[in-house]
Amino acid sequence: MTTTAVNPVLLLTAVVRRVERLSPSFVRICFGGVDFEHLGPEGPTLDQRVKVLIPSTGHGVPRLDPDGWYAAWLALPEHERGHVRTYTARAVEGEGDDRQLVVDFVLHGPDGHGGAPAGPAGSWAEEATVGDEIGLLAPRRGHERSFGGIEFAPADARRLVLVADETAVPALASIAEALPADADGIAVVEVPDATDFLDVRFPPGFEVHWLARGDRERGSQTLATLRSCLRLDTEGRAPNELPSLGRSADLDDDVWETAMYSSSGDDVTVSLQEAALLGPDDTYAWVAGDSDTVKACRRLLVGEGGMPRHQVAFMGYWKQGRAS
Ligand SMILES: Cc1cc2nc3c(=O)[nH]c(=O)nc-3n(C[C@H](O)[C@H](O)[C@H](O)COP(=O)(O)OP(=O)(O)OC[C@H]3O[C@@H](n4cnc5c(N)ncnc54)[C@H](O)[C@@H]3O)c2cc1C
Repeated sequence: MTTTAVNPVLLLTAVVRRVERLSPSFVRICFGGVDFEHLGPEGPTLDQRVKVLIPSTGHGVPRLDPDGWYAAWLALPEHERGHVRTYTARAVEGEGDDRQLVVDFVLHGPDGHGGAPAGPAGSWAEEATVGDEIGLLAPRRGHERSFGGIEFAPADARRLVLVADETAVPALASIAEALPADADGIAVVEVPDATDFLDVRFPPGFEVHWLARGDRERGSQTLATLRSCLRLDTEGRAPNELPSLGRSADLDDDVWETAMYSSSGDDVTVSLQEAALLGPDDTYAWVAGDSDTVKACRRLLVGEGGMPRHQVAFMGYWKQGRAS
């Protein structure tokens, strides 16, 4: 008997079924379409990432085979291939023909709060209407482990530290909703404006800080709040001794550091002996957002706070001034 290996990657044409403006900076778009009944993940989406393929103006979604899709996509003429970006599956719900993917897009163009010119994905989301189509790369149901893309892995940690900017709010919200009712920890969430504070369900024991950036430096309130929540001492130290935004180049711009992988090339593999040291009282930190803030949080939590590297996940979701 022969068995055919199933490709864990689903490459779908995603059709907009519903558009909902959640707040000035967030638009929720629900997608469905042919073969969506095979869409994973099966369990909680947590911070499951997916790729969206925004078609070029005047072109449809490129027809690609999931096997070697990236090389085939790169081989297309530049004006035809469109743009690939990474987003979070805020939810995957429904069954059969009703199965759908929910994505919360941040509107970061001049009309949103980002300041920089909107990129292709943000601009597309701003204009999206029912019936529009994009490409989607997502896990096949039942094969999500091979697809990967979930980084939240707190093991037996008793206390959680969750830090997000607006691009990581969809992931944070899915994580928060999946936590057990007795989960304990803090969440620090910085968004452009107080009107962007979303209704996210956290367990009752969680200390949640929604921060409105306004005109302040991106990430500055996140760092100050984190420092005060963790009671890191600042007394008697000159400001230049304190970790701050973008001050040193000790980590690369694509900061991505989890218990499994480090973009800086550092060895983060946890030995069995080290893993066994993760006692019941340990804390796990999940930090995602713009690279400069994430790097500064890493310096704060690991450098200053002394958190072991294997109990943290630091993920730069985007970099100011650079298209993804
Ligand atoms: C794992 C992962 C999950 C993600 N999940 C989400 C999600 O669920 N929702 C979401 O909105 N984003 C999410 N992002 C971030 C998203 O991929 C980036 O914001 C991406 O740059 C948007 O593409 P774009 O085409 O709109 O802009 P790009 O063409 O990539 O960038 C154009 C310009 O806009 C700037 N820019 C990009 N994003 C922002 C922003 N948010 N605010 C201000 N300026 C910005 C860039 O620095 C650049 O100068 C995620 C990223 C990763 C890695």
